[in-house]
Amino acid sequence: MELSSEEKRLYTIFKDLKSDRISEGQIIHLIEPKRKLEHDDGCLNFQGDKLRNKIVYNRNYVINGKFDDNTLRFVLIHEEGHIRKGKSKILLYIILMLVIFAILAFYLFNNPVNIIITTMDEQISLSQILSSILILGLYLFIIIPIIWRFNWDTMFNDEFIADNYAAENVQKFFSENYPSAKLNQFLSLEPTVQEQKRINTILVLMKILGSYPDYHPSGCIRIEKVREKYDKPLS
Ligand SMILES: [Zn+2]
Repeated sequence: MELSSEEKRLYTIFKDLKSDRISEGQIIHLIEPKRKLEHDDGCLNFQGDKLRNKIVYNRNYVINGKFDDNTLRFVLIHEEGHIRKGKSKILLYIILMLVIFAILAFYLFNNPVNIIITTMDEQISLSQILSSILILGLYLFIIIPIIWRFNWDTMFNDEFIADNYAAENVQKFFSENYPSAKLNQFLSLEPTVQEQKRINTILVLMKILGSYPDYHPSGCIRIEKVREKYDKPLS
């Protein structure tokens, strides 16, 4: 697919952030040179993906946003901040628990895993189906919510860690006196109707499950923290 001019600018900025920079006599990279940038309209705006070594973005978001260069830098470095400095290991725990659970389930019930890999001509009994539902329910409603809650503070604080990393570097290397204004510009873009529908679906789903409180700090708090710490108004 043809890249829009806004996306081309995003790629140019991304490439520049991966280039060598000198800081205190050492070569540094604001974004890891091996990191990739890809569009993925499944994500709401931007997301750092450590497992796949990439930062993904929502194409509509970038095109509609018409963000200035320092705002794009802020957002990209923020996502890099999540990958480099983020302390939350929630995904790892969830996968680990899934593996442990699958093994346990296999030995306890000797079937839920079988159901997934079973061949079509084998008969699946009612008790096998019920115990599989039980296992899935335990996982979704008890195990993962517990991990989620134990990680809530870490996920909450990771947003500030990523913001600080972005603000510090945009200020240092791109002479940005108002990093908070860049974050504000990014956060103030209203989602499109289509995206709003998706956000609503996620919120409804979270309400139904009831056990996954949103960990994102509000935009106001984030902006205020960056403003206090990094803005340098010209007097
Ligand atoms: Zn973030």
